[in-house]
Amino acid sequence: MSTLRFHAIKESLDRKPLSIAEDQRRSSIFGENVFNEKAMRQYLTAAALSAIMDATQKGTKIDRNVADHISTGMKEWAISKGATHYTHWFQPLTGTTAEKHDAFFEPIGNGNAIEKFGGDQLVQQEPDASSFPNGGIRNTFEARGYTAWDPTSPAFIFGTTLCIPTVFVAYTGEALDYKTPLLRALQAIDFAAVAVCKYFDKNVRKVNASLGWEQEYFLVDRALALSRPDIVLTGRTLLGHSAAKGQQLDDHYFGSIPSRALTFMRDLEHECMLLGIPIKTRHNEVAPNQFELAPIYEEANLAVDHNSLIMDVMDKVAERHQFKVLFHEKPFAGVNGSGKHNNWSLGTDTGVNLLSPGKTPMSNLQFLTFFINTIKAVNDNEELLRASIASASNDHRLGANEAPPAIMSVFIGQQLTAVLQELQNVTSGKLSPEEKTELKLNVVGKIPEILLDNTDRNRTSPFAFTGNKFEFRAVGSKANCANAMTVLNAIVAKQLMDFKDEVDVLIEKKDMKKDDAIFNVLREYIKKSKAILFEGNGYSEEWEKQAKKRGLSNNKTTPEALKVKLSKNSLELFGGLGIMNEVEAKARYEIEMEEYVLRIQIESRVLGDIARNHVVPTAVKYQNLLVENVKGLKEIYGASFKKVAQEQLNLIENISGHIEAINSNVTAMTNERKLANSESSIDKKAELYSNKVKSFLEAIRYHCDKLELLVDDELWPLTKYRELLFVR
Ligand code: ADP
Ligand code: MG
Repeated sequence: MSTLRFHAIKESLDRKPLSIAEDQRRSSIFGENVFNEKAMRQYLTAAALSAIMDATQKGTKIDRNVADHISTGMKEWAISKGATHYTHWFQPLTGTTAEKHDAFFEPIGNGNAIEKFGGDQLVQQEPDASSFPNGGIRNTFEARGYTAWDPTSPAFIFGTTLCIPTVFVAYTGEALDYKTPLLRALQAIDFAAVAVCKYFDKNVRKVNASLGWEQEYFLVDRALALSRPDIVLTGRTLLGHSAAKGQQLDDHYFGSIPSRALTFMRDLEHECMLLGIPIKTRHNEVAPNQFELAPIYEEANLAVDHNSLIMDVMDKVAERHQFKVLFHEKPFAGVNGSGKHNNWSLGTDTGVNLLSPGKTPMSNLQFLTFFINTIKAVNDNEELLRASIASASNDHRLGANEAPPAIMSVFIGQQLTAVLQELQNVTSGKLSPEEKTELKLNVVGKIPEILLDNTDRNRTSPFAFTGNKFEFRAVGSKANCANAMTVLNAIVAKQLMDFKDEVDVLIEKKDMKKDDAIFNVLREYIKKSKAILFEGNGYSEEWEKQAKKRGLSNNKTTPEALKVKLSKNSLELFGGLGIMNEVEAKARYEIEMEEYVLRIQIESRVLGDIARNHVVPTAVKYQNLLVENVKGLKEIYGASFKKVAQEQLNLIENISGHIEAINSNVTAMTNERKLANSESSIDKKAELYSNKVKSFLEAIRYHCDKLELLVDDELWPLTKYRELLFVR
């Protein structure tokens, strides 16, 4: 074993699990570091508290005067918890979170100082925006950007810093972050869904989209991870032969959690409790060293913030436990990759889950309305939904032989399929009283019973109905959920608005009763949404063929998938709902294409470097040993040496073949990269990276992995898969 590998493995084996405090009663520490209602009651005046409550619940603006009161209370609370700094916490288009800490401390002359935090500092800040991606927004407009407080997501303390969730916008108003369009989309769905709810219940005033994400990740010992330049620089292994044992025995999934990993999880969950992140579930996933955690669902904006926050917290807690968390969608070839299921639903302020069948036929008609409108929205916008989850790393999962395919489809289960079939057969126009009774009692009325024993699950579906919510399973593990949630809520909002228009026309112009009109429109929607409904095996080749016939898109690479973002339909959808104007939408397209190029460019450089500087020299060293050996045999055996040296001679040749292949592929890849880099159009550049550069990664890896099997283990410098995945 090479010294580097040896030391990494020794270091990891020598570790003792970190001793952490005993688990406390969780409910007693939940939200302790969050400026939540309980803390606000203690630190704010009644007027300040009600201003925040109104802002959260009704979206009203907070007056500057009141902001001063709020900031003072917030500061006192934060200092009482040991905070020394504050930061606006935001999600620029890098996909991660950003923060710049400022101290409360301020000198006031004569050697004295005070702790200061005014309304101005709370409400608005001006970070130097020039180094964040902006997709040309700041070139065409002004250079500056600012962050503005989002009172709907509560401030929290992490470490000794008070973090204030904010949006990030250009001075001209264009969004430079993920949160702004999400908030606008959530407003759109609130508006659209409330209007539709009024058909069923006049008391509904607000509809919240909910999100419950399930985060998959790998835990690798820190020393082992740091011994691999590819993991350090790209978050995944670019080479490495599969271990003899992978996940084929299915012995990891839901197995007993390794003790060091469990200690990490307990420590992480403790932090989550303090931060008010309602973590509920933890378990082993399919691949070795792969795990999952999931909270109880929350309002979508808060859930997105909590997911971004937890990814950051996981990194930090992992460091304490000498682990590295890999969020990449495909860190290891040959074993499962990671995703982030987004469970999504709509809930009213009257306490009703709109995607959960109720007790009466009328509430079930409401359920069907939202259920069918969601299906229609996905049917009409499947390509846009695919684009919302596109990234270089997620391309490894979608359309590969695991995880949902790049084709979007909706799974609803056998029983609901039958219900839709019955609804579709309803006569058009006004229903006779008998028909209505039959429909309400026997079709709509029976839904709760049939769903109760709805146990069919389809793991291959990217968008599945799971009893009282839809589960969008194709989201990447590394992704910020905001992108997917913005698009999903936007398309459903638009769909609900169209639905309401159509129903109202039937009521007003055709003199139909409300439920007749609703049945009529839904029936048409079912007919129009046939293409998207699929109950079979999403991984199969037949599905690819069938999906093509149905006219569904199958965009396997990010550059192909993103194109739809610039279509007239998409621009109109986002523009019409006030979610993104054309400048903002185009900027995001540019940024995502640019990021795609950069990711592959970095991978290509790193692999070229490892192949030439680690793999080839090691292979040559081993080959020299073989050459020495053959020379020795020749000395002893003379002319007949081949009798005993044939294997070695074959190996020498074999190694030369791989070395040659690596060198010529690296050279060719470098040339393709240069050609691509000289392209000025981002479309062309991304296409070249996708079609020309990327394929060399596989080719080079193939030969490196072959050499890993041939070369003496003592010499091999790179930590192997069996060590990365099984040393714990
Ligand atoms: P699984 O899908 O693994 O079988 P569950 O059915 O328990 O697991 O739920 C998965 C996730 O769905 C959980 O994170 C849960 O919080 C979330 N969830 C449950 N109800 C809703 C809802 N109404 N809206 C959004 N997410 C929900
Ligand atoms: Mg799930």
